[in-house]
Amino acid sequence: MTTMNRRFVLASRPTGAPSEDNFRLDRVAVPELAPGQVLVRHHYLSLDPYMRGRMSDQKSYAPPQPLNEVMLGGTVGEVVASQAASFAVGDHVSGAGGWQEYSVVNAEVPGALRKIDTAQIPMAAYLGAVGMPGITAWIGLHLICEPKPGETLVVSAASGAVGSVVGQLAKARGCRVIGVAGGKDKCDYVTGELGFDACLDYKAVRDVEAFGAELRKAAPAGIDGYFENVGGMVLEAVMRQMNAFGRIAVCGMISSYNGTPQPIARPDLILTARLKIQGFIVSEHLPLWAAARTELAAGVAAGAIKYRETIADGLDRAPSAFLGLLQGKNFGKQLVKLV
Ligand code: NDP
Repeated sequence: MTTMNRRFVLASRPTGAPSEDNFRLDRVAVPELAPGQVLVRHHYLSLDPYMRGRMSDQKSYAPPQPLNEVMLGGTVGEVVASQAASFAVGDHVSGAGGWQEYSVVNAEVPGALRKIDTAQIPMAAYLGAVGMPGITAWIGLHLICEPKPGETLVVSAASGAVGSVVGQLAKARGCRVIGVAGGKDKCDYVTGELGFDACLDYKAVRDVEAFGAELRKAAPAGIDGYFENVGGMVLEAVMRQMNAFGRIAVCGMISSYNGTPQPIARPDLILTARLKIQGFIVSEHLPLWAAARTELAAGVAAGAIKYRETIADGLDRAPSAFLGLLQGKNFGKQLVKLV
């Protein structure tokens, strides 16, 4: 019997904020497997801010998502048919199956599909704290922020998939950690559940001066490391309070993803505070992934690394959940549950 696959393709490129019209739902038959291929039924789809960048055709670190092709995205699921010796029906796997219910994967391509152990770690965590977002946190923190005991580290989008892990890893390394998040509920979670020393609600302040005053109270000894996820006012205020030889890992700038790049008002601080400011892309540091995964998996399995998820139910909800992610409506890792 033919299995039908439902999938979202990119129908058009957004100008400014994306809308549901940019996506189109298709139904196609799952093809017969060729030798070396496996059929994966996706249990969860990951929604991530980087997808907004791929929807545009501007110059970036990665080529744009082609029009009329399946929206790209990380997935976890189960092998339901296999023509590859290395994968058996029933294996739990992670891959890049995209916004669809099934994917046919050339399993012999290195890195295309990875077996995951779901005995102690829930499958969905392989898209969050133990997956690409957690690894992003680990790499940016170690490679660029270089945290040392007693130092002060700030992280923005602190309740999210990346930020929540950054702060917990930095706490474990003896730092004073200050989160920045949108709203009281997120800040309460960041301090109460995740154990950060403080969390500032950037939505509760008027401007960069007011935010800077809050930051000074929370970080009286200045800031040594900043893990940047948002850009704009938060970056501006943090830069003004960086200590000499401070390190800023530029991971994301979500406040400008819809096309309004924000100027940096005080580039002179890079010189006077001798700052290191470095952007990075997680997929360009593959040699570090194994070490990151080992620590993250141990932390999650032991309950030492905590995380939260927002789960949209069913493929149909993927576009609205994605638009919500870009507006901060998610609380923790944004997923779509497909099975
Ligand atoms: P999150 O789970 O943190 O969700 C995104 C969050 O960003 C929202 O919940 C919201 O939190 C915040 N946000 C949204 N819009 C704005 C805005 N206009 N101004 C300020 N904050 C906003 O997402 P991730 O953890 O997956 O990603 C965090 C960052 O890391 C993103 O910038 C992403 O692009 C980047 N990233 C970079 C990678 C790399 O290789 N460099 C890899 C993976 C992610 P709040 O309500 O608190 O404002």
